Amino acid sequence: MSRYPQAILTLIAYLKKLPGVGTKTSERCAFELLSWLESELQEFSVHIKDLKEEIESCSICGCLKEEGPCFFCDQTRRDTNVLCIIASPKAAYLLEETAYYKGLYHVLGTLLSPLEGKHPEDLHLDKVIERLKAHEIKEVIIALDATLEGDTTALYLKEQLAPLEVHITRLALGLPMGSTLDYIDQNTLSQALAGRQPI
Ligand SMILES: [Zn+2]
Repeated sequence: MSRYPQAILTLIAYLKKLPGVGTKTSERCAFELLSWLESELQEFSVHIKDLKEEIESCSICGCLKEEGPCFFCDQTRRDTNVLCIIASPKAAYLLEETAYYKGLYHVLGTLLSPLEGKHPEDLHLDKVIERLKAHEIKEVIIALDATLEGDTTALYLKEQLAPLEVHITRLALGLPMGSTLDYIDQNTLSQALAGRQPI
């Protein structure tokens, strides 16, 4: 049985690293790419190559930003009394889509998961505490996945932030258990945000 040329095999291996892409889909995508014009492939590869150069993380909130000031930290447009704690920069875009939330964000970058070697020090909570003290933040909304790791992290945050006398809420768990925010539709997320509860 003959096999795919090495270049196709390599491409398939990379495509399979993408979420939700299995063997069949990656094979289909690899052959699709093969049918593109040379110029399109060149352009595509340039965008991939420059991805990390063109995008950086905001040193304050951890959200993604391009050159210039951070959109999510613009104090003239945001409600600086509320801080929403999220695990990854993508969650900020999901919450913005609901058009309900106008406050500040803070990206943790990870969730607690002792099995995967993610411990409290990896959350860098000192940065959160510093921001809470610097701004007049009255409420912290914890917007983490409704998973074991999300729950563990939320409880830890609650314990650590309790002495700061800030109102702490978490998205209402109208979110299905075990779900990640990525797969929640806009309505469910809006409702969960509106119905957030003290924890
Ligand atoms: Zn920012």
